[in-house]
Amino acid sequence: MQQILRQDVKYVKGVGPVRADLLRKELGLTTLGDLLYYFPYRYDDRSEVQRICDLMEGMPAVQVKGRILEFFKEGAGHKQRLIATFTDGTGYCELVWFRGIKFAEKTYKIGHEYLVFGKPTFFKNRFNIGHPEMEDLTAAKEKAQQAGGQQWLQPQAPPLASAPLLAEGNGTLPDGRGTGAGLLPHYHTTDRMKNAGLNSRALAKIIGAAWDIVASKGGMDETLPAELIAQRHLIALTEAMRIIHQPRSAEELPAAQRRLKFEELFYLQLGILCYAKRQQLQIAGYRLPQVGELFHRFYKERIPFELTGAQKRVLREIQADMASGRQMNRLLQGDVGSGKTMVALMTCLLAIGNGFQTCLMAPTEILAEQHLATLREQLGDLPVRVEFLTGIVKGARRREILEATARGEVDILVGTHALIEPSVQFLNLGLAVVDEQHRFGVKQRASLWEKNAQPPHILVMTATPIPRTLAMTVYGDLDVSVIDELPPGRKPVSTRHYYEDEQAQLHQGLLHELAAGRQVYVVYPLIEETAKMDLQSLQMGYAKMVEAFPQYKVGCVHGKMKSAIKDEEMLRFKRGETQILVSTTVIEVGVNVPNASVMVIEDAQRFGLSQLHQLRGRVGRGADQSYCLLITKRDMQDTTRRRMRIMVSSTDGFEIAEEDLKLRGPGDLEGTQQSGMPFDLKIANVVKDSRLMQEARLVAQEIVEADPQQQLPQNTLLWQRLRELRRERTDFSEIS
Ligand code: ADP
Ligand code: MG
Repeated sequence: MQQILRQDVKYVKGVGPVRADLLRKELGLTTLGDLLYYFPYRYDDRSEVQRICDLMEGMPAVQVKGRILEFFKEGAGHKQRLIATFTDGTGYCELVWFRGIKFAEKTYKIGHEYLVFGKPTFFKNRFNIGHPEMEDLTAAKEKAQQAGGQQWLQPQAPPLASAPLLAEGNGTLPDGRGTGAGLLPHYHTTDRMKNAGLNSRALAKIIGAAWDIVASKGGMDETLPAELIAQRHLIALTEAMRIIHQPRSAEELPAAQRRLKFEELFYLQLGILCYAKRQQLQIAGYRLPQVGELFHRFYKERIPFELTGAQKRVLREIQADMASGRQMNRLLQGDVGSGKTMVALMTCLLAIGNGFQTCLMAPTEILAEQHLATLREQLGDLPVRVEFLTGIVKGARRREILEATARGEVDILVGTHALIEPSVQFLNLGLAVVDEQHRFGVKQRASLWEKNAQPPHILVMTATPIPRTLAMTVYGDLDVSVIDELPPGRKPVSTRHYYEDEQAQLHQGLLHELAAGRQVYVVYPLIEETAKMDLQSLQMGYAKMVEAFPQYKVGCVHGKMKSAIKDEEMLRFKRGETQILVSTTVIEVGVNVPNASVMVIEDAQRFGLSQLHQLRGRVGRGADQSYCLLITKRDMQDTTRRRMRIMVSSTDGFEIAEEDLKLRGPGDLEGTQQSGMPFDLKIANVVKDSRLMQEARLVAQEIVEADPQQQLPQNTLLWQRLRELRRERTDFSEIS
């Protein structure tokens, strides 16, 4: 990296030790380079200055220019606020501070001319602007005169009169420096920074000063090869950097954003693909050439149905992988109920048939238990030893399992994260199956490899389908298999949305299904933070069901119950002894009851789309029509309404996942950060910029294919930069 970019922020004009400390603690910015790569999150059009007499209710943030006439305070103690009466000659408004009162009093001066920016609200016959951004035009003018009219923010700005966004008339600024005109960048700051006067505007100045230092040294060293820049029609880094922080007009911005986003996504993809390539080249895998007797016996004797075409295809892909001699790293995606567990089990049998041990790792205790039960049931009397190891298995039992595993006697070890622990040693682990991969990081997967001299084959399964665009980033180092076909005879679940005051209608429907001999789930949310209230509403819901359906038996389960009691309740439902099961989300991953035909989800607004889809997957497992009924309050946010609409209109897990991502953003996707990203994105967004990412990936792919050993001289810059970026994100480099 360029030496100048490594310089400590405290040498930048306007910083000093106190602010340097704040920048480091609050935003993690320590160098000049960090400052420049701290991008604005939005821009305000500052070309227009409103007259106070023209302010109207409902206006967005506006800019007014005038003077403070007086300061006064209202309220006391905690509620105290500082108010300034402000006028521009056409009318009056009030500027209000609730926080940082001392700072405001000390800083803003009666009689000085200010450019004020903020959202006006109408209150007590007057407009007021809370916590406005203030620029002292009088002080700036004085300073400019002293410094001979030097400019700081826009060194190469054209004369104001020609600035394209400049409004006519009252838009002209007194000092001609360009601040307040064009687009003003906004930077995220924290409360602690604001209280110390380090607001967005102050940060803009600091970044401006940092930019001046770099610009005076001839700009930034280019981080992409000239050929690539020309080929992708990108602008130079120096130009993009200037524009992103100091755009002269809105028209300039897209090219700068495209350049910076492309670069970021390109290095992201390059990093991921290199990692995958290295694995492919260096990491030999166990060769598992045989299909084996065990697999054949299971196939002939134990499977009560025909495998779907998709299941067969995926099994062939897996078998080819494991026979190839290189380590398999495969992601298995498939909607709820698509039969992933069956594929996982048969993959285990392939490995066992070649003389290896296997393990199956689930993210929760309940899921692990469920897997154990399913596997044992499906294997029947086949000679396969399945054992269970989680945190709750203790003492002599634990020792026994650990020893049997180390001696190679356990064929399938089912468990949770506990399987990663060093105390768990296999004699010859040939395959690790990881369920619900998105909760495991790359690093955790890597620690599975350490169980052997050679890494086992890895199959990760996710029931949360991930859109391709994201999959290739989060799981960029994995090959992907998709089960895109449900077992035959399943009718799509019919989904309806009810308001909570439509109980009568709802109960009518339930009665109809119950009378036909079917069973009903009623699910309530349970969130750790609101657990007490959630349990109360669950118990009320239970009482309500008991009262509404006296002729049927109602069961109740929640995560806080002892697991023996919980299991018993579940079993009673499974055996049909209870017809209605009121529960928290413990059943999300739990029981398989084909006779259940209705899933009622209370407080549906509190669940995410993917979670709703998972829950819905609990019904519709038999051949008859099933229903999912979503209950919400009438009063809903727009996003909730959209979520309900999507659920009602679609049963396609991939479509739902895509929508989910759009509504929530990728940041919320569980574990995205640690899953596979070699570094954090600062400007690009893996969802919104998915096309650009695709483009970047193709370019990166070509480079990695042409230069797998990273030796070609024309790529030196790339590999160097990639190493630099990785160093910034140490946890990734630890494993790559
Ligand atoms: P997933 O793990 O993908 O959610 P499961 O493996 O739990 O799905 O399968 C759901 C149900 O469908 C199970 O009861 C399973 O036995 C059954 N099943 C799996 N494959 C088939 C198939 N090919 N035909 C019919 N039923 C199947
Ligand atoms: Mg499953």
